[in-house]
Amino acid sequence: RFLNGGPSFKASEVEYRFTAHPKPKPANPDKCKFGKHFTDHMLAVEWDSKNGWGTPTIKPIENISLHPATSVFHYATELFEGMKAYRTEDNRIAMFRPMENMKRMERTARRACLPEFDKEELLKCIGELVRVDQEWVPYSNKASLYLRPTMIGTEPSLGVNMSKSALLYCILCPVGPYFETGSFNPVSLMADPRYLRAAKGGSGAFKLGSNYGPTIRIQEEAARRGCQQVLWLHGEDHQITEVGTMNVFIYWINEDGDHELATMPLDKGIVLPGVTRMSIMDLAESWGEFKITERVLTMADLTKGLKEKRVLEMFGAGTACVICPIEHILYMDQDLFIPTMENGPEVAGRLYRELTDIQFGRVPHDWSHTV
Ligand code: PMP
Repeated sequence: RFLNGGPSFKASEVEYRFTAHPKPKPANPDKCKFGKHFTDHMLAVEWDSKNGWGTPTIKPIENISLHPATSVFHYATELFEGMKAYRTEDNRIAMFRPMENMKRMERTARRACLPEFDKEELLKCIGELVRVDQEWVPYSNKASLYLRPTMIGTEPSLGVNMSKSALLYCILCPVGPYFETGSFNPVSLMADPRYLRAAKGGSGAFKLGSNYGPTIRIQEEAARRGCQQVLWLHGEDHQITEVGTMNVFIYWINEDGDHELATMPLDKGIVLPGVTRMSIMDLAESWGEFKITERVLTMADLTKGLKEKRVLEMFGAGTACVICPIEHILYMDQDLFIPTMENGPEVAGRLYRELTDIQFGRVPHDWSHTV
């Protein structure tokens, strides 16, 4: 039994209803914009506090009809995950460390007072959905199928309470490469300490929709000021926490003269524990060539390091782009230039190659999960 879910649904019970009107697939998946094209089917499972989980169903993708008082519309009782399935060189379909997404989804469900479920069973159900829509997994070594597991509170009631019903679903989108040119496009960041993404004691470490809505206006401001992404700072000392919807890494020569790859620690609860972040630390650890440290770095540390020419590379890391090099930061009307591209980028480039080799099955690895 689960905390507030009752016994979980099971993948062996999935009911299938196939579309009679399959849609044409995008002619060139390498040109697919993120989140604009959807496959033919979706997975859906309903839950309510009386009967527990219902039967998982794979059915034609359809609109959801809900009462205007529904919990999710008023109090944002919503959570999601973001993961990808890749077509490998030998024509398998593989997901990248999907159980890590299932674990994060379970933690987020607990935080959101939405029902828990068996992670293995959900992963198998998602695998079934991907199999049903397998022809939508791009035949390309640049594009992939983005998977969006979601859960919403569906009780039609205005009380700010735990929703007595919920809907778990998953939709799929073919997505083109993040870097259309095929090589890295370095980005500029706006770092403005007036804005905060997450606070200690808050919910920033969870993938709740309510963490993202309020960032859109800040992202718009960054764009107005000529930057592609927001560098989220934290606290009086302007700690470097995340970039847009990515974790952030700094590769530098630290104060003690050691080469070090550093990223914000998770124990403050203000950054999302990224699957890419974890994988980067594991890979770099396996090289055994420099220190890998989870530590708080501030804008003062960064500017001092830049002055002393100790900063080598800085990059964001997440499912969407894998690795995103940073070349410029607009910080309180100061222009900071980061020499990421001038330095190769050696570490960012090697991490990108090793991660994408595993994702596209060019290198066998137990992080790759065949569907
Ligand atoms: N931080 C935030 C705020 C995010 O939304 C994401 C995307 N899930 C990440 C970091 C990167 O996480 P992952 O590597 O699991 O995609």
